[in-house]
Amino acid sequence: MPGAAAGAPQPGAALPGAGSLFVVVAPSGAGKTSLVRALLDQRPGVELSVSFTTRAPRPGERDGVDYRFIDRADFERRRAAGEFLEWAEVHGNLYGTSRDWIAARIGEGRDIVLEIDWQGAHQVLRLFPDAVSVFIAPPSMQTLRERLRHRGQDSDEVIERRMAAARDELLQAHSFQYVIINQDFTTALSQLASIVEAAGLRFPKQQARERRLFAQLFLSSEPSAGA
Ligand code: GDP
Ligand code: ADP
Ligand code: 5GP
Repeated sequence: MPGAAAGAPQPGAALPGAGSLFVVVAPSGAGKTSLVRALLDQRPGVELSVSFTTRAPRPGERDGVDYRFIDRADFERRRAAGEFLEWAEVHGNLYGTSRDWIAARIGEGRDIVLEIDWQGAHQVLRLFPDAVSVFIAPPSMQTLRERLRHRGQDSDEVIERRMAAARDELLQAHSFQYVIINQDFTTALSQLASIVEAAGLRFPKQQARERRLFAQLFLSSEPSAGA
């Protein structure tokens, strides 16, 4: 794997350690960024992968926090050098996930969230089959349009382009494990938190966290007393 950090897990292998990898996908305006930000506030142990993008920053977006904003030539150079775990062209802009950053966090057993488009999600799920995939859907197409308008950060033309793309993106929902319909924000947030909680309770994750207890309770070859 060009550019992969030393000790990075092999593609297709189960993630080592107690950490889970969450891949969150949604059409633009469905509320993915708001939900993921609120999740991170609730659960400081979960880390967000900050993607590289050639899109211009929106008002209030900060480099290194929301995205790493780079130009197309820089993106193409990094892509050729194998720096991206996945990349995709979305709404005319290039987006990519840092391979080294992900490998390092996986190595530390951290919970990581990727907020990426469905093409990138498919690439990541092929590499990490035990990643947890979540699709966030709007309660209706009309609500989606209203939220994009209300967010007030995109021109009418960009909003129409995103609405057209949303129809294609919604056709991808069937390949995700979980679907959250973001009608009431508090309900949707608690559903997302439940998914994160449950993922951490999967056998291998608990085993990585509770090695000693597991060895005593579940893995001992000693016959139990009275057997
Ligand atoms: P938003 O959809 O309104 O949040 O607008 P953005 O410009 O922030 O994102 C546009 C699309 O690009 C969304 O579908 C994002 O999930 C996707 N995206 C963001 N970062 C990445 C990335 O690193 N890789 C891929 N493949 N897609 C990304
Ligand atoms: P995305 O990252 O999927 O493009 P955002 O998180 O930017 O979406 O949300 C789009 C807009 O909708 C924002 O203005 C956000 O405040 C608003 N929003 C998100 N979730 C809800 C909700 N459940 N009810 C009402 N408005 C919402
Ligand atoms: P640098 O200039 O060292 O590459 O990064 C600038 C800032 O962006 C630092 O805060 C760094 O931690 C952050 N950063 C760089 N790459 C990534 C990434 O892929 N994911 C995340 N979450 N943060 C990154």
